[in-house]
Amino acid sequence: MQPMLVPAPEVNALGECTWCGELEELHVAPDGEVGVRAFHRSALGGSARFIDEIG
Ligand SMILES: [Zn+2]
Repeated sequence: MQPMLVPAPEVNALGECTWCGELEELHVAPDGEVGVRAFHRSALGGSARFIDEIG
C-alpha cells in the first residue's frame, strides 16, 4: 500500500503551526521530540509521509 502523501506542517512568523494553530513548543511527540513535523507525523501514524520528504 502506498503511503498517503500530505503537505508538511510549517511554523509561521508568529511561531504557530500552520496545521493546527498551536505554538510549535506545544508540539511534543511521544518520543519527546519537539516540533510540528514530528508531532503531526506521529498523529498521522505510519501510513502518511510529507510531500517534501519524497524523492
Ligand atoms: Zn500543529
